[in-house]
Formats: sequence, C-alpha cells, structure tokens
Amino acid sequence: MSLEQLWAGWRHEYVASATAAERAGDDGGCVFCRIAASGPPSADNLVVWRDDLTLAVMNAYPYASGHVLVMPVRHISRPGDLTVAESAGLWEATRQALDAIESAYEPDGTNMGANLGRAAGAGIPQHLHLHVLPRWSGDTNFMTSVAGVRVMPESLVVGWERLRQAWPVA
Ligand SMILES: [Zn+2]
Repeated sequence: MSLEQLWAGWRHEYVASATAAERAGDDGGCVFCRIAASGPPSADNLVVWRDDLTLAVMNAYPYASGHVLVMPVRHISRPGDLTVAESAGLWEATRQALDAIESAYEPDGTNMGANLGRAAGAGIPQHLHLHVLPRWSGDTNFMTSVAGVRVMPESLVVGWERLRQAWPVA
C-alpha cells in the first residue's frame, strides 16, 4: 500500500496508538476500546452514534470523506464471536451508517465491508470493525493513479458533524 494522503494530520497519533496497542496485546491498549470507553458521541471522540453494544466512529485514517467504522463495543476479533444481539446491532448500525452517508454526501455509490486479519489488510485486526464509506464516479482517478495521493477535502470533525446530523436515529 503506497498510497499517501495530503490531509492526514491525525494519522501519526492514530498509527502510533494502534501500534502501541498491538504491542501491549491487551484490551486496555486497544484504540477502539479506548473510543468505546470515551463516553457519548462528541466532536472529541468522533463517535457518530452508539448504544451499549455497538458504535460508529469516524475513521481516523479515511479513504474518503465520511468514512465510518462500525464495530461492537466488546473487544472481539471474529464475527463468530459476536452474540446474536451484537450481530444484529452491528448490522443495524451499518444500515444506519449507509443511510447517513447517502443522505449527507449523496454519493454515486458506497463501500461497506471488513478486513479480517492482518493478511487481509486490517490495521487493527484484534477489534472487529466494518468500513462504510461513500464513493464517487472517478474518485480513484487522476490523483490516485498518477500521483499515488488522495486528497481529503474536509476535516474529520466536519464529516462527524454531517453524519451526526444525518444519522437516522438518536
Ligand atoms: Zn478493543
């Protein structure tokens, strides 16, 4: 993965904390568990929506504006470890994320999915999460293919505000 991003002021801290979490090898070091423990949605924790089982947070290392991560609150790595309630909550929050993204960004399409395990491309494989993000025709064009660069046109906080307002449930 040679792709670099122009607007990535948050990236260092995120990658550093993720690496530290992996080294620590325990739940206390997991960046997603820290987000889960950070309280109600706010511009500080960038959580867009949550309940007791599931949360949605802006991806600190986005592929596009409006890139959300949906995950169980509980620190588990495999879909097979989800309870039935967690599984239902994860899918419902993913559905809501798609609704919010479509409403806030009016994209041409969306991607949703998960990378399970380091070999599959997961940055934080120890805490299950689904990626949901808007896509536009031609958004992998010129800058990506020619320069190996993606341009992020808005900050994470602006994206958080847009999705928070567009989220279909309180
Ligand atoms: Zn965790």
